[in-house]
Formats: sequence, structure tokens, C-alpha cells
Amino acid sequence: MKKIMITGACGQIGSELVAKLRDEYGKENVLATDIREVSMQAGPFEVLDVMDAQRMHDIAKDFGADTMMHMAALLSATAEAKPLFAWNLNMGGLVNALEVSRELGLQFFTPSSIGAFGPSTPKHNTPQDTLQRPTTMYGVNKVAGELLCDYYHTRFGLDTRGVRFPGLISNVTPPGGGTTDYAVDIYYKAVQEGKYTSYIAKGSYMDMMYMPDALQAIVDLMEANPEKLIHRNAFNVTAMSFEPEEIAATIRKQMPDFQMDYDVDPVRQAIADSWPDSIDASAAKEEWGFKAKYDLDAMTIDMLKKLEKKISHSA
Ligand code: NAD
Repeated sequence: MKKIMITGACGQIGSELVAKLRDEYGKENVLATDIREVSMQAGPFEVLDVMDAQRMHDIAKDFGADTMMHMAALLSATAEAKPLFAWNLNMGGLVNALEVSRELGLQFFTPSSIGAFGPSTPKHNTPQDTLQRPTTMYGVNKVAGELLCDYYHTRFGLDTRGVRFPGLISNVTPPGGGTTDYAVDIYYKAVQEGKYTSYIAKGSYMDMMYMPDALQAIVDLMEANPEKLIHRNAFNVTAMSFEPEEIAATIRKQMPDFQMDYDVDPVRQAIADSWPDSIDASAAKEEWGFKAKYDLDAMTIDMLKKLEKKISHSA
């Protein structure tokens, strides 16, 4: 039986991951923790600052956890605004979560990101194993984090596993300050106002994935046969790559009057320019059967349908 503890559980990924894991493994077997308490958590919840290693250890032990999923982090755009804070939280929280997992023998998952790549990385069909010299604090944290997780695996035999998520698109919890957030905002604005001003420039391709596919990827990777895993931290995963004009065109198939213009944010545009246009997920497919169900059209139909319902209910 799985007993899973999640840090940063009230964020964009965590809030939906908790619900998915509670469906899969039972409500009482998934402990959500976060520095802030959000009332939507129906099931075990503890307030936990990931900088407090002792409390993290005590909570994991009391719960009888056998798995740690570490989600608490500062995302790319926010990390660029507060780089030192980002270093301390992203690395300090991670090393605490790894240490607790080593002490208690927990299986471990944390997401890396396409932000772990940089301008010198091959931009198209970016390979699993390639140059990683990111120019953002977030990217520096993610590369160091991948190496640290691999170190805990080779040095201590810890069962660490991770993915490099692309931008994640969801309709439940708003994103937390990433560069790809435009691809979520655009759907909200399409439903609310019929128009959107993009802070990412025309022609900027980035990888993306719909949240249901991201959550399934976490479950599938954690359940994969360890003997089949050649890589661990972290696997390229992606479902689609598009630029602003393409997502706008897809929205217009459902909402023909949708309009878009641009007011490019230089900070987030520079981050986007340093990331790949598209990544190669073949290692994830071969080693643990990664598969995404949603392409851009299928995701757009589902996003607009869900948001129309959500926004009309809240109006
Ligand atoms: P988010 O910003 O939505 O959520 C982060 C959560 O961490 C928040 O609920 C916040 O309250 C919590 N938190 C912040 N400081 C904390 C602390 N000191 N102690 C405990 N909790 C704290 O982030 P997310 O989008 O859910 O991302 C989760 C992970 O996935 C991160 O490692 C992120 O880098 C990675 N990731 C996300 C995306 C994406 O598109 N969302 C893409 C690639 C990778």
C-alpha cells in the first residue's frame, strides 16, 4: 500500500496531484502539506515549511510515508525576480526532502523542467542527454537538483525519479509564476473577454502538456519497473510544442471572434528564448511507456468547456 507525502501540495500541480493520488490509492494514504493552508484539501493535511527539515522528518515518520513527492519551489519568472531567495528555497527544500527520504527510506519524486536547458542546448528535438547550461536561476536550480537526485540514487541507493515538465496547462489552480503561464491565461481571457494580450512574442515555440497527462506521467513513472530505468533525473516529457499564433488559431476554431495582440515582457521573453523549441521524449517512452493523450486541439476543446462552466458558476 502506498503512503505518499506531498510538499507544496496547494500549487498548480500539487492541488490536482493530491486529488488524483487519493483516487488511485485512497484518501487516507495521501498526505498534503504546504506552507499555506487551502480549504480544498479533503483528507490529511499538515502545514509544513520545507525549510524546516526536522518538522518534515517528523510529519513523514508519523504518517508512515513510503513515498515523498516534492513540489514546493519558486517558478522561473518569480525566481528571476528573487534569485537568492529562489536558490535558498529550491535547493534548501530539495536537500531537506532528499535527506528525510534517505533517513526514512522513501521513494522520491520531484519535477525538473525544460528550464534545465539553456541557449547552448540544441533547440529542436532536444535530446534526453545533452548540454545543460541554463542562464536563469530557476534553470541553475533545476540542473543542480537533477544532479543531486541522481547523486542520492547512486551514492545512497535512494529510488529517486523525475521528469522535465514543459509548461503545464490546467483549469483548476492558477499557475504560480512560470514563463509558460500565458498558455493558461489565454484560455481564461478568451472565455472572460474574448481577447488576450500575449507577453510572449509571436513565433516563440515552447513545449506544453495538459495537466491530466502530467499527472498520469507521475503515476506511471513512479510505478515503473526500476530495472527498466536507464535514466532517473530527469526524463524529457512533452505533448505538444506551439507558439502564440497557433494556440490563438486553435481557440478560434471554437470561438471565431477571439482576438489577440502583443505586449511582450522582456524578462519572460528572454527566458523563453533560452529554452528549447521542442524536446524529444523518446527515452521516457522507451523506459516507462510515457504517452500523452491530449494534443493542442483536444486540450483546447476541454479547457474551453471546463472554463466556461467554471466561470459561469463563479459569476
Ligand atoms: P506552484 O508555484 O503552483 O506551487 C508551489 C507550492 O509550493 C505553492 O502552493 C506554495 O505555497 C508552496 N510553497 C512555497 N514555498 C514553500 C515552502 N517554503 N514550504 C512549503 N511549501 C511552499 O508550482 P507548481 O506549478 O505546482 O510546480 C511544482 C513543481 O513542478 C516545481 O518544482 C516546479 O518547478 C515544477 N514544474 C512546474 C511546471 C508548471 O508548468 N507548473 C513546469 C515544470 C516544472
